[in-house]
Amino acid sequence: MLPDLDVVGFRFGVPYGHLLGHRGLSHSIAFAVILSVCLAWLLPIAAQGSRLILFGFLFSSTMSHGLLDALTSGGLGVAFFAPLVNSRYFFPWRPIRVSPVSVSAFLSATGVRVLRSELRWIWLPAALVAGLLTLLRRSG
Ligand SMILES: [Zn+2]
Repeated sequence: MLPDLDVVGFRFGVPYGHLLGHRGLSHSIAFAVILSVCLAWLLPIAAQGSRLILFGFLFSSTMSHGLLDALTSGGLGVAFFAPLVNSRYFFPWRPIRVSPVSVSAFLSATGVRVLRSELRWIWLPAALVAGLLTLLRRSG
């Protein structure tokens, strides 16, 4: 959820399409790499753990946010290659209903439709994959 802290920029007049605007630098590959390197270096690690595996987990978690945003039905797209290129990208297939930025809009019928869409396209498939991986791990 950290990448979406960029919505604070709306309060300070940062335009949506700006490098620091919503779905800009904080949704980029560079941000995911830097955040993951810093956290993998700072976080305590178990005796048998690996900082490289921790980095991989943090990087894939952070990148999944932008990738899922690029599957949504609204906004300007995701600046995956910021700060080098501030072009915004979507995937050609965008089944996930975009979430409104304002709380009041989210607490309306629109919010219910967004949650239903996210349940269908994100949470249920993620739960299915997690369940299958758990079964595979227990059987192996
Ligand atoms: Zn986002």
